[in-house]
Amino acid sequence: MRIRLLFLLSLGALSAFAQFRAGAAARIITPDLGAAKAYIAGFGQNRAATGVHDDLHARCLAMAAGTSQPVVVCGVDSIGLFFDDVQAIRKAVAAGHKSPVSVIVAVTHSHETPDTMGLWGPRIGVSGLNEDYNRYVISRTAEAALAALIALQPATVRLAKASSPRLREFYDDSRPPVVLDDEILALAVDHAQTKKPIAVLANWASHPEALGSKNTLITADWCHYFYSEIESRTGGTAVFINGALGGMMSPLGATISDPATGQPAPKDTFRFAEIVGREAAQHALRALSAAEPVTPDSIEYREAMAAIPVTNKNFLMASGAGLFKGRKPMSADEGTTAPVGYLRLARGGEALLEAAAIPGELYPELSVGPIVRDPNADFPDAPFEPIIKKDVLKAPFRMVFGLANDEIGYIIPKAQWDEKPPYTFGAEKPWYGEINAPGPEAAPMIIQTLSGLVNAKSQPR
Ligand SMILES: [Zn+2]
Repeated sequence: MRIRLLFLLSLGALSAFAQFRAGAAARIITPDLGAAKAYIAGFGQNRAATGVHDDLHARCLAMAAGTSQPVVVCGVDSIGLFFDDVQAIRKAVAAGHKSPVSVIVAVTHSHETPDTMGLWGPRIGVSGLNEDYNRYVISRTAEAALAALIALQPATVRLAKASSPRLREFYDDSRPPVVLDDEILALAVDHAQTKKPIAVLANWASHPEALGSKNTLITADWCHYFYSEIESRTGGTAVFINGALGGMMSPLGATISDPATGQPAPKDTFRFAEIVGREAAQHALRALSAAEPVTPDSIEYREAMAAIPVTNKNFLMASGAGLFKGRKPMSADEGTTAPVGYLRLARGGEALLEAAAIPGELYPELSVGPIVRDPNADFPDAPFEPIIKKDVLKAPFRMVFGLANDEIGYIIPKAQWDEKPPYTFGAEKPWYGEINAPGPEAAPMIIQTLSGLVNAKSQPR
């Protein structure tokens, strides 16, 4: 009798847990400019912040289903966080939550936020990383993740994708081949009973650098307007996760017409950023409004370290000079390592959504293809890597989380790697890209690690 009762109790508990649950929370991570100088990252040296235009945030969505451990996905308004800082966030979440939880931390890569990596200090060779600010980002992101976990409640999911000629206007790809991964993917979680939106997580590839290199006001760049549009229209928390934004998915050189004037929006202005952010959000929300709710019954996150050889002399010098302040150890002999992750949301054994968590700035050639061969490349006969959204992921909704859990720079198809003359596509001088990339082996190693995770059997529960 007692055994039977226990069995019934556990069945009851299981059915409660089998429900899909979601929760969201955000925390402000704006630097206190009165306390310390903040060097703005992303372009040149010595760009000290003179004020704040809008608050920076850590924004987290927690999801749980079945008996597997919950997964929290956080989008952070920052240029980049090394794995060392992500591990510190995970440690703080584990200490607060008491039971196992998977935490994915992706940065938005806004080029108008403090230097959290060390590469944009007062002058070359001097780190711009302020440990107090990194500690603040770590503790606030962990707080947001824990608050999202506490807020878990029964929920349903809507999935949608959008692309349009207008969105393609928001890019200026400065390097051939012109390949754009311009689709916006959106995941909305709604309260199961009231249908009220809890959060919208959107995944799109674009450098938040619309304000350009001269701006000295702290801002989340176009992400600020993206959040504002999503939150004012839905009432839920907006989370933004950047995509395959390498080589070069950016509005920086784009000519974008302003619907208010019919004229091109002036460059390097908040209005320019506003058009990108609001219209991208409107595309995501329009697509979501037609999406049917589904209830996933499993969520799983897997991660493995990829060994990455480093040939970039600037990276090795920066590391050797201590610019990263002890983070991201690397050497010419040993290379470095970076985490690669795989997230899967499923129902009845069928994947609804898959996401690849990539530790840097993936070229869209590796996300949607094609990779293009040129005889002047440094490794013209290198085999093509499998294309993530075509050959590796198979679910109806396939996301690439860029700058997820680490930032190792550009990830370039090996067959397109081009440091040595003659240069590809008839160029007179080297293309921009390799100068901010670890080396030609990063792409094959990362995609091989990802394929291993996708093909691995589910972890026993
Ligand atoms: Zn970048």
